[in-house]
Amino acid sequence: MEEIVRCSRCILPASLPSVKLDDKGVCNYCNSFDRSFGDWDNVKEMKKKQFEQIIEKVKKQNAEYDCLIPLSGGKDSTYALYVCDKIYNLRCLCITFDNGFLSDYARKNIRNAINATRADHIYYAVNPKTMLELYK
Ligand SMILES: [Zn+2]
Repeated sequence: MEEIVRCSRCILPASLPSVKLDDKGVCNYCNSFDRSFGDWDNVKEMKKKQFEQIIEKVKKQNAEYDCLIPLSGGKDSTYALYVCDKIYNLRCLCITFDNGFLSDYARKNIRNAINATRADHIYYAVNPKTMLELYK
């Protein structure tokens, strides 16, 4: 069996066209992450300041919504909604792509998250025949 060469850190296969390994076997994505976030204790305040500058710029636009949050009902997107609504007081529009496989648990999480915030929410679904074609 042929051995697959992978990034020594994240296990991305080197056979992917966009993956380049360095002489230590670490991929370009891991190296890029290290350049941006590797020294997190020293860069986190700068990153937070950059994020807050973006937020201030967005708020000045005085649009109907300040941000669009793709909400799956999982912890990451729910936390993003929490941060935008509760910490930064942004006017949030959430959208959930309903691929036909959303669990009742996810729907319940979405309902609870929306009810706990001021966000508006949209479920978006394409016609099931179109979805089937997309899955093919
Ligand atoms: Zn990697």
